[in-house]
Amino acid sequence: MRTMSAEMVKCRGCASEWPLGAHLVCHCPQCHQTFVDEQSATAHLIVNYGGRKPYVRCKTPEAANLVDAGRAYPCWRLRDAPPG
Ligand SMILES: [Zn+2]
Ligand SMILES: [Zn+2]
Repeated sequence: MRTMSAEMVKCRGCASEWPLGAHLVCHCPQCHQTFVDEQSATAHLIVNYGGRKPYVRCKTPEAANLVDAGRAYPCWRLRDAPPG
């Protein structure tokens, strides 16, 4: 019996989905990339404090030194972080 089918979390703004059990996974509501954890998600953000409000922009994963985490779903990790 195949009862292991993981429940998936779906983004309302794009076609991305990732396992509900992957608690650390962060999905960016702005550029709709998925990251293995908060640290790698933070790495792709550029916060601009120049205006009245801090303004957050997204770098491309490549520009943020992120690499494909090689998971079953599209997901980025920091190049320097251990695989997992
Ligand atoms: Zn983003
Ligand atoms: Zn999304």
